[in-house]
Amino acid sequence: MIQKDPYLLTPGPLTTSLSVKQAMLRDWGSWDGDFNGLTAEVCERLLEVAGGRNSHVCVPMQGSGTFAVEATLGTVIPPTSTTLVLMNGAYGQRIGKILDTLGRPYLAIDKGDYHPPRGDEVAVALQEHPEIEQVVVVHCETSSGILNPIEEIAEACRKARKRLIIDSMSAFGALPINVVELPCAALVSSANKCFEGVPGFGFAIVERELLSASAGQCHSLSLDLHDQWKYMEKTGQWRYTPPTHVVAAFLQAMREHEAEGGVDGRLARYSRNRDRLVAGLRDIGFRTLLADEWLSPIITTFLSPNSPAFEFRRFYDAIKARGFLIYPGKLTVADSFRVGCIGQLHDEQIDAVITAVAEACQELGLSIPVAVPALAPDNLETV
Ligand SMILES: *Cc1c(COP(=O)(O)O)cnc(C)c1O
Repeated sequence: MIQKDPYLLTPGPLTTSLSVKQAMLRDWGSWDGDFNGLTAEVCERLLEVAGGRNSHVCVPMQGSGTFAVEATLGTVIPPTSTTLVLMNGAYGQRIGKILDTLGRPYLAIDKGDYHPPRGDEVAVALQEHPEIEQVVVVHCETSSGILNPIEEIAEACRKARKRLIIDSMSAFGALPINVVELPCAALVSSANKCFEGVPGFGFAIVERELLSASAGQCHSLSLDLHDQWKYMEKTGQWRYTPPTHVVAAFLQAMREHEAEGGVDGRLARYSRNRDRLVAGLRDIGFRTLLADEWLSPIITTFLSPNSPAFEFRRFYDAIKARGFLIYPGKLTVADSFRVGCIGQLHDEQIDAVITAVAEACQELGLSIPVAVPALAPDNLETV
């Protein structure tokens, strides 16, 4: 069944459940004990999912995910400390841009659009540059959909005794991660990705000791994660106006996450969505940018047909007319588009998307199977 509002096949904002939307129908006093209880429960639940109950603290931050990334980097990285940034897409590059803006020194390993940064490369960089004190990596690089090998990167950091900071924005909640076992000094994510809340705040899960030692380091008043934490510890409140309705919706979303079987349940559904989607689109002739082992269960990049009849805008509109919003590609090497697997999407919606894509191809005058350029051989790197 196609609902009136289109399904969002985008990696956040995404399609939320009706009950999550309904949780926003009440107004809350930002200083009131009832609302403070919501915030406290959200933070406790997030720490539990991350496995950091005894070692880490959870601090929410108003704004989109980038605000939380900037707050975390600006707060926990000392002003003169050198950072290694691993880049393989837009979000890794954004981390570099944040550090540029903050005037914090960093080195980068830039793997281009879609190659994974590897543990051995990180180990070499850490050996060659002993001044590096922390490494920042993106868990799922949403711009291509690649799932970066954070375990081997964490291992390289652990051996060299460097701190690891993870932008797990589009992965946390659906991909298992344990901040103690990994280990990870700080993990950042937001409300509107795999927990399936609505947009309005992000959060950081940070080693208590690290955050305690970060007082006075932040470049910004409103993004000072240490101050936000201290104020919240003291009063139970956010320092400045919280997105009250968003927090209420997020708590409902977290309850639904738990009811679905937590991270395992969500990973199972998203993986199933991805497998079904990829198989269905391959049947129509499409190819994924990445080899199967690098495909995240979050979002998949498909290469565009190389026919002059293919125009992304018309393709997008034809799919939208059938009830789904897809995402443009973000590659410099090839024309592509992306389809997300996260949000309230189940078999029925995935099957309808596949049909919508096939019909859109026909509407554009493409013959099926569509002809898509071959994969570049260099993206078939294996673990
Ligand atoms: C969504 C996302 C962000 C944050 O983006 P905002 O638009 O600021 O919410 C950061 N990193 C990754 C990997 C993301 O997917």
